[in-house]
Amino acid sequence: MHSEEQKRLNPLDMVLAQIDKASRYLACDPNLIEKLKHAERSLMVSVPVMMDDGRLKVFKGFRVQHNTVRGPAKGGIRFHPDVDLDEVTALAAWMTWKCAVMNIPFGGAKGGVECNPKEMSIREIERLTRRFTAEILSFIGPEKDIPAPDVNTNAQIMAWMMDTYSMQIGHSVPGVVTGKPIEIGGSEGRSEATGRGVVFTILEAAKRMNLRLDGATAAIQGFGNVGASAAKHLCREGARITAVSTSKGGIYCDRGIDIQALQSYYKKNATLAGFEGYDVITNDELLHLPCDILVPAAMENSIHKDNAGGVRARIIAEGANGPVTPIADEILKDKGVFVIPDILANAGGVTVSYFEWVQDLQNYFWNEEEINEKLKMLMVSAFKKVVNIAEENKVDNRTAAQMLGIGRVVEATRVRGLYP
Ligand code: GLU
Repeated sequence: MHSEEQKRLNPLDMVLAQIDKASRYLACDPNLIEKLKHAERSLMVSVPVMMDDGRLKVFKGFRVQHNTVRGPAKGGIRFHPDVDLDEVTALAAWMTWKCAVMNIPFGGAKGGVECNPKEMSIREIERLTRRFTAEILSFIGPEKDIPAPDVNTNAQIMAWMMDTYSMQIGHSVPGVVTGKPIEIGGSEGRSEATGRGVVFTILEAAKRMNLRLDGATAAIQGFGNVGASAAKHLCREGARITAVSTSKGGIYCDRGIDIQALQSYYKKNATLAGFEGYDVITNDELLHLPCDILVPAAMENSIHKDNAGGVRARIIAEGANGPVTPIADEILKDKGVFVIPDILANAGGVTVSYFEWVQDLQNYFWNEEEINEKLKMLMVSAFKKVVNIAEENKVDNRTAAQMLGIGRVVEATRVRGLYP
């Protein structure tokens, strides 16, 4: 069920409101801010695909480059029934701030195809991916716009994108996408980087709150790439995962869930249902569990005006992009919840994407230890900067992260000047 707030909430409006709020504190030139309210380029394509039953279906695809002032546009591609131009544009803007918060030399982009990959065969998904790549081919490239995985896309899909692009160009171009399989220029540590990064930020937050992760309890909403790896790394830190969910609902166990066993079960059955020995719960019940850490790692707007009041976690680490609505943000603030905002909490993915791109361009590859160490350094440093800004300006962490990100993009825009 969607509440009124959710129905009305266009993520692009959320982005514009966030820009206004951050820029009030930054007190910078309004002309520079105006530029950031608009995506530089948006491409909408039709993606005709021959389905297995011989019917032709035409899907809508998008790629939006929000900003390229600090470097090539960077961001994932999602395959989901709710994809539309406004959602992709908002997600592209969040990528711009995210790369700037991490101080990696990328702008922001996002892409997507409106489809339901859960109802498609693997060959249909391959044909969709290849045709979509062909349609956006002139838009992307290692110097201008570099896609990566996002909701319902993975390393295999990146391999098909890389192959389609390379066959058209006439030689292998590994740097055109990140999140690829290791065999074709992917990076060690990339597949778990987002979840690992989420946990690096939780560790920092816990330190500030005198909370020991060893023995702490956590609930994870979403069991895709981000949720599953965040759960795994939280377990490694000694936390007890008491609940996990997917879009279809979740499972709960006060003693803690065996995440490794759940992961192999989920891989095999594509559902959490039937996993023995656990109680069944709804997504709203999961959000309302008493726990130390809550990781929303599903979609936008999952914590909204009608369910935020029931949140009992001390820390929320946003594995997903945009999981907390602005009204929910206010409610959580009043409750004293420490929110680690998306553009910081889940930035580990794009950070290791940056490492992957650098390795591809140099044709020289690092080991996983080096990658994880560099990731940790960048995440901890960004976390500290954001929290300092929040304290100095007496703003919430989200506004502080936006101030850091938007501030850096504004400064780069100012120094480059306006063309022509
Ligand atoms: N889709 C991920 C995100 O939202 C990763 C993007 C990337 O690696 O380019 O941050």
